[in-house]
Amino acid sequence: MMKKLLYVIAAVALFSCQTQSENTEMQTENPFYQEWQTPYGVPPFDQIKDEHYMQAFEDGMAQQLEEVNAIASNEEEPTFENTITAFEKSGDLLNKVSNVFFNLTSAHTNDSLQGISRVISPRLSAHSDNIFLNADFYARVKALFDQREELDLTIEQAKLLDNYNTRFVRAGAALSVEEQAKMRELNGQLSSLSVAFGENVLAETNKFEMVLEEGDLEGLPESVINAGAEAAKERGYKGKYVFTTHRPSLYPFITYSTNRELREKLKKGYINRGDNDDENDNKELARQLANVRLEKAQLLGYSTWADYVLTQRMLDTPDKVYNLLDKVWPAALEAAKKERDLMKEMAAKEGVDIDIMPWDWWYYAEKIKKEQYDLDENEIRPYLKVDNVINGTFILANKLFGMTFEEQTNIPKYHDDVRTYTVKNENGELIGIYLSDWFYRSSKRGGAWMNTYRSQSNMEGNKIIPIVTNVGNFTKPTGDTPSLLSQSEATTLFHEFGHALHGLLSECTYPSISGTSTPRDFVEFPSQVMENWVFEPEMLALYAFHYETGEVMPTELVEKIKNAGQFNQGFGTVEYMAASYLDMAYHTVTEPITIGAGEFEEAAMDEIGMIDAIVPRYRTGYFSHAFSNPEGYSAGYYSYLNSEVMDADAFGAFKENGLFDKETANAYREHILSKGGTRDAMEMYVNFRGREPKFEGLLERRGFN
Ligand SMILES: [Zn+2]
Repeated sequence: MMKKLLYVIAAVALFSCQTQSENTEMQTENPFYQEWQTPYGVPPFDQIKDEHYMQAFEDGMAQQLEEVNAIASNEEEPTFENTITAFEKSGDLLNKVSNVFFNLTSAHTNDSLQGISRVISPRLSAHSDNIFLNADFYARVKALFDQREELDLTIEQAKLLDNYNTRFVRAGAALSVEEQAKMRELNGQLSSLSVAFGENVLAETNKFEMVLEEGDLEGLPESVINAGAEAAKERGYKGKYVFTTHRPSLYPFITYSTNRELREKLKKGYINRGDNDDENDNKELARQLANVRLEKAQLLGYSTWADYVLTQRMLDTPDKVYNLLDKVWPAALEAAKKERDLMKEMAAKEGVDIDIMPWDWWYYAEKIKKEQYDLDENEIRPYLKVDNVINGTFILANKLFGMTFEEQTNIPKYHDDVRTYTVKNENGELIGIYLSDWFYRSSKRGGAWMNTYRSQSNMEGNKIIPIVTNVGNFTKPTGDTPSLLSQSEATTLFHEFGHALHGLLSECTYPSISGTSTPRDFVEFPSQVMENWVFEPEMLALYAFHYETGEVMPTELVEKIKNAGQFNQGFGTVEYMAASYLDMAYHTVTEPITIGAGEFEEAAMDEIGMIDAIVPRYRTGYFSHAFSNPEGYSAGYYSYLNSEVMDADAFGAFKENGLFDKETANAYREHILSKGGTRDAMEMYVNFRGREPKFEGLLERRGFN
């Protein structure tokens, strides 16, 4: 997953009750007001305290609004520099505080930060409105846009101007005053609703626990039992075992436990998050979010929310999205049904007559994997020690792009688990800072992601290197027990690292268009493409060493992994695509949803012929991609599939020319990774590959052809 912070935010009347002198005193102690003296300008995490945020947000918004007013009321004729560049340079304080704050509310939050988030999110949304509903500012941007052909702009400047013009129009700058007031109101609602949604997901995920006795552990490998004991200890249960809905706890349990009732209990704990009819229930919030979004879209002249957001994507209409989904769905569903039937047979062979349910899938899939491919996840894990896999990503970046990563220990951190690296080019030039934070803790959101603390830019010769972070939730090594990743976790690590490379190798001029600032259905391409290397034999030989013996993964095991490559793809695709359809269903309604979200979800799943054995990867109650942000990945969860069309086709180039072929890597770096969002996405792809991506690569890879 990729997170991009709101780049711009800002202004609300200040209602400071402090005296001037108190305020000044506070500012001198508040690191957000200072030039950061830390190495490479990394945020001084050790000095930032929770009480520093609010004031910095308020002053930051006020400052940026002043800057915007100065741009808007400039008596000189609008030029690219005095309008667009001037705005790109605005909001320094606000960017500083926002970047730190929103990174930490995901990676290391607490009640105080959550409280600030609740207050500040609607105000930031109002601030954004104060900028993009500013009629004088819009008049200048529009004047420039109308004469863009005569302005002698670079390709990047032309794209940036186009982005801003669109952004104003989409924000409602062309609406009447009354309509704009309505727009502000709707934006405020979206912001509050989405914050509440995200908080409920976090609360629900942390709340559920399954406390077990010694006798309940049948089938579990020792490492899973140990993790259960560890979790129990953390939660103050003596001599017990605790399993939770956090994925590193959930998946091993439902894969190995022979106790069907307990598997069901835990899996239901996971899929019912936000759907327990209690104070953290998300169904009504989701319904309201969909309806407010519809109202906003219609205010802007679009018939649905999807029509509105898709104007910014590669697939720019709902029809194009459904066209892609419908091309893959029938084959995926058929494959999944075959997989399910095979599991039923497997169960019958063991004398169990059951219909396969979502809490059975992992359990029987593992058995089939063992029987058909002789492949046991526990056989692979010892070769996927987390440090080795991290090292693998660095080796790959070095082989493809000549990059080097060097850990630094003198840089402030927000948590001991964070590791900080300087990143250098082939010629030794420093190009970025990379922070990794891979281990689970309860102060972190679930999942894995990339984000930036500072975007790359190079305005007016002022070269700013990016500060990029990867965050995950892998099990932390304890005592003598190393953290050994599963196949899918290792894949996740490479995926997020791909986003990080996109941020680190950016060579753009303007910050709002650099790095990962690309259309949502393009941005997963540079991350997904990296997944292709993880289990390639040539790659495994470079990093997959046994954590005890140091031996490289044996050829026989590599071969087995390769053979099982298309195993369970029906399931994976159906699980993912069902969530994509659900997301589209919520966002293509043309009338407000009047039925409950539970019923709505059921109807959406019936329409695609979803089977009982599989639950969508995200049900409504915890569909954070769709609902925990005013816009986020709404009408956008399909993006991974669109990106996969490109990643499968792009990796084809490496397959043809060599896995570490320099020329292919250079072309990929030049046309994709270094360009951020400075070009039309398809144009960048064609520049790299010499043609548009072929769709077939995706079907072939998943074994659906
Ligand atoms: Zn991603």
